[in-house]
Amino acid sequence: MTEQYDDDPLFGAALDTLAIRAGHLRTAEGEHGEPLFLTSSYVFANAAEAAARFSGEQSGNVYSRYTNPTVRNFEVRIAALEGAEQAVATSSGMAAILSTCIALLKAGDHVLCSRDVFGTTTVLMEKYLGKFGVQSSFLPVTDLEQWREALRPETKLLFLETPSNPLCEIADIKKLAALAHEHGALLVVDNCLCTPALQQPLALGADLVVHSATKYLDGQGRCLGGVVCGRSELVNEVLAFIRSAGPTMSAFNAWVFLKGLETLRLRMDAHSANAMSLALWLQQQPAVEKVFYAGLPDHPGHELATEQQRSFGGVLSFRVKGGREQAWRVIDSTRILSLTANLGDAKTTIVHPATTTHGRLSDEQKAASGITENLIRIAVGLEDIEDIKADLKRGLDSL
Ligand SMILES: *Cc1c(COP(=O)(O)O)cnc(C)c1O
Repeated sequence: MTEQYDDDPLFGAALDTLAIRAGHLRTAEGEHGEPLFLTSSYVFANAAEAAARFSGEQSGNVYSRYTNPTVRNFEVRIAALEGAEQAVATSSGMAAILSTCIALLKAGDHVLCSRDVFGTTTVLMEKYLGKFGVQSSFLPVTDLEQWREALRPETKLLFLETPSNPLCEIADIKKLAALAHEHGALLVVDNCLCTPALQQPLALGADLVVHSATKYLDGQGRCLGGVVCGRSELVNEVLAFIRSAGPTMSAFNAWVFLKGLETLRLRMDAHSANAMSLALWLQQQPAVEKVFYAGLPDHPGHELATEQQRSFGGVLSFRVKGGREQAWRVIDSTRILSLTANLGDAKTTIVHPATTTHGRLSDEQKAASGITENLIRIAVGLEDIEDIKADLKRGLDSL
């Protein structure tokens, strides 16, 4: 994939240009829009060509579990946006994380993972990787000393998400990459909440970036997908596993994500501006106890987020005065916001983490992660933010 770039007019182009144009190899039809190749297999000109394709002597399409031109278009484009040598797409974000772990770890290895990662990532690591002899430890993302102390000789991978969800804690990617490398381990960053429009972890020293494309890369809540980006030497190992195991991205979904990427930067800027406006407004509401958003100057991660992100993204959370009853009342009083755990959609969503996304945590785990009964998470969408404020005001004013 890199080779395509060396003689490409887009070589060195800016993110906004790459997001719209990278990876489309126009066919003989002269199409302007990216074509959707709905085909499971490909035909060969003759038996010798078939043999050469199968042996790998000749590059080219064989079967869509291995390559598909539309999926390839998406992979080249997201690799360009992340500043990666190569990317491989998967059927979902979890498939991207699973494939990365299976490809790069073996029985006896150990993973250090940030405590407040996406819930299913914790289940995957503890329950399923554990079953195959890979151990994992979970640590607060802001406490570098704890990460250093938790390193073992068999620690091969550090995995984190920044900002964290829902409290927007910020990890120092540069420092954690340096720590991983001193130890001969790899750093993998789940860049789902920022996307490359706001943060490029590879440039800060991470070895691999994973995404749930389901969220902001699509941006309109339509398709499931994922992707792994990084150096070819690592991505090729993940790619080999995906080709054998089969969690490939569908061509149709890749085509939808390509359309999503065209507006990625505009959407992320608008999500960030709306979230900032809402965070400042929430701080003024008498029924609100505390707002968590890294864009607020009093947030402990504000300075670091300012250094490593272009802006602060669309996810925020806040505590109301009271407990579960008061939080539920605010949620149930909304008429526009969608009560759903998804994020990264044009539609604003609201959720009560303690009883949904974080419901499986023990009381001690919830306390350690700050998931209190009065906490509400909002993934701010692209509606007029004054309408969202008015929708929340009804419940807040009733407390
Ligand atoms: C949703 C999500 C995932 C999982 O992605 P799926 O596409 O649902 O499999 C992983 N990480 C983060 C941060 C997410 O928000």
